[in-house]
Amino acid sequence: MDNCIFCKIIAGEIPSMRIYEDDQCIATLDIGPASKGHTLVMPKSHYADVTDGVPEELLGKLMKTASKIGARQIEKLGAAGFNIVQNNGEAAGQTVRHLHIHVIPRYEGGPGMVGWEPTKPETAELQEVCELLRG
Ligand code: 5GP
Ligand code: ZN
Repeated sequence: MDNCIFCKIIAGEIPSMRIYEDDQCIATLDIGPASKGHTLVMPKSHYADVTDGVPEELLGKLMKTASKIGARQIEKLGAAGFNIVQNNGEAAGQTVRHLHIHVIPRYEGGPGMVGWEPTKPETAELQEVCELLRG
């Protein structure tokens, strides 16, 4: 897609540190890593985000690739674990509208990166949300 920075990376028009490639996806180091080895896994075809009609088989492929890269971060970089993060929409922190999965290695004593403050809603509120989402 025109003017998509990740499509340009995939096409080789913009350089990137590619660590994996197959016929459906690539994995490249993030230009602004949250930690050493932070990798982006993305499909070669352009989809804006996970709701954009992505075939199930491709979604499976992307997640499988992300998990293999996480295992490699542990094996080769000495990470203690990793986060898989995937943002959908500007409000969710998505800055590049080409579907991608972040694989972020976590190191012992490293900074906290992905977290939230748990809240304590009443059961009635949970039930209401449950009804809305179940449909
Ligand atoms: P988002 O916020 O959309 O989930 O993540 C976009 C990510 O793409 C950011 O972590 C950002 O650092 C990364 N990024 C933006 N431009 C480039 C680029 O030109 N090359 C690479 N490798 N990563 C990029
Ligand atoms: Zn694109």
